[in-house]
Amino acid sequence: EVRVRFAPSPTGALHIGGIRTALYNYLFAKKMGGKFLLRIEDTDQTRFVPGAEDYIKESLEWLGISPVESPWNPGDCGPYRQSERKPMYMQYALDLVEKGHAYYAFDTTEELEAMRERLTAARVVQPQYNSITRTQMKNSLTLPPEEVKARLESGDPYVIRVKIPRNEEVRLNDMIRGWVLVHSSTLDDKVLMKSDGMPTYHLANIVDDHLMNITHVIRGEEWLPSAPLHVLLYKFFGWEATMPQFAHLPLLLKPDGNGKLSKRDGDKLGFPVFPLNWTDPFTEEKSSGFREQGYLPDAFLNFLAFLGWNPGDARELFTLEELVEAFSVERIGKAGTKFDIAKAKWFNEQYLKIKPTSELAAFLIADAKKDGVDVPSDRIDSIVNLVKDRVTFPAELWKESRFIVVAPDSFDEEIASKKWNGDAVKVLSAYAVALDSYSVEFDAVSAKSLLESTAETEGIKLGKVMQAVRLAVTGSGAGPDLMVVFAILGPIEVAKRIRFALS
Ligand code: GLU
Repeated sequence: EVRVRFAPSPTGALHIGGIRTALYNYLFAKKMGGKFLLRIEDTDQTRFVPGAEDYIKESLEWLGISPVESPWNPGDCGPYRQSERKPMYMQYALDLVEKGHAYYAFDTTEELEAMRERLTAARVVQPQYNSITRTQMKNSLTLPPEEVKARLESGDPYVIRVKIPRNEEVRLNDMIRGWVLVHSSTLDDKVLMKSDGMPTYHLANIVDDHLMNITHVIRGEEWLPSAPLHVLLYKFFGWEATMPQFAHLPLLLKPDGNGKLSKRDGDKLGFPVFPLNWTDPFTEEKSSGFREQGYLPDAFLNFLAFLGWNPGDARELFTLEELVEAFSVERIGKAGTKFDIAKAKWFNEQYLKIKPTSELAAFLIADAKKDGVDVPSDRIDSIVNLVKDRVTFPAELWKESRFIVVAPDSFDEEIASKKWNGDAVKVLSAYAVALDSYSVEFDAVSAKSLLESTAETEGIKLGKVMQAVRLAVTGSGAGPDLMVVFAILGPIEVAKRIRFALS
């Protein structure tokens, strides 16, 4: 059975890259008839941020991609928070020590710093604790066994490091990138167990993926450099046969393609990079979210799916079910994907257009209410249909249509100065009179032909006064189809507005 996991660290708001990773895991699991799990990786207590876990949960719920096993809905492989699994990890680290694949290290911070300085002075580009330098450091590979024993017994602080082989080619076959080869001399002896008894990410991640029967690891490209170490750990544990397959997702790039999209870019460039609003509990810094900006969850989901994947044909609009159907890891690109907010807006517009009128009406009615206005229920549908193609976000529905319910009491000065003239006054006065005695059904077509015949009778070209007509009835120089607006308002209201404008 396919089992995949999303393994976020609760270190702040989940950014767009994180939520994309969650979505791809979800899609893959569903496609394969498998399970999507969530594990909270909170071994680094110094980076723990209160509220971050709830934020993750809420974001996934908003998009309808909740995991089937998680801290909030545990399955058989719990606990699903690494901090709650703490007692489990030491035995695995000790197992590696016993097998000769890991060792105790007693170096103090000062000693590590001194080593780094020495290597930097010797122009080593990336100072590492590796097969060469470890021979100069205080660890169980260099100290006499009695001293190691004595130190451990006396409670000296120590870490457990992995013993990276000196001369070995490590390879893995990434589902997206193909074969990745790394020489072990480029890897360092990463800490597996910290001095506080907490495992590091690397150890906990491997142990948990193994114990949770994870079959595929789908995660961001930033973890690719760690993958060779992970492959070695699977080998050292003797878990090669069940080692998960890896898929490292392409980076998300800034809109200009220049470098990785960062959490700061959103505020700088004026678009959200987080699913939901977030206030950092320590700094009180606020970041805005797609949800609060008015993105619909299905539109955002569709946008997200296309950040690195495409179906291989021209189709763009996919429901979640359709995404599951169409998804495949093979169609995830290797190259980074540019973040394009215009595309996100486009998706939102498409989804707004196909939403049932009643759903959009609910947005509009609520916003009008906040504005202290009741929208007449017999007009609501036609108002929604009039403006829904003109907006990107639901909150714009009311802004775009307010003038229909609330007659203007002021007029755009600039348009008035250019377009208001004797001809306009003539046509408008005559049109108001014609409307007074209009008794047949009044729709966009009849409103227009009445206006046309009025202008003709006055001997004035309608095109020349059209904007003034709009100004008189709506207060502004631009807006939705004016004749449909007239039909919604009805002849009495149109005449009334014209007379107010003329007065
Ligand atoms: N905890 C890691 C993160 O925050 C998970 C990496 C992985 O999926 O292995 O991204």
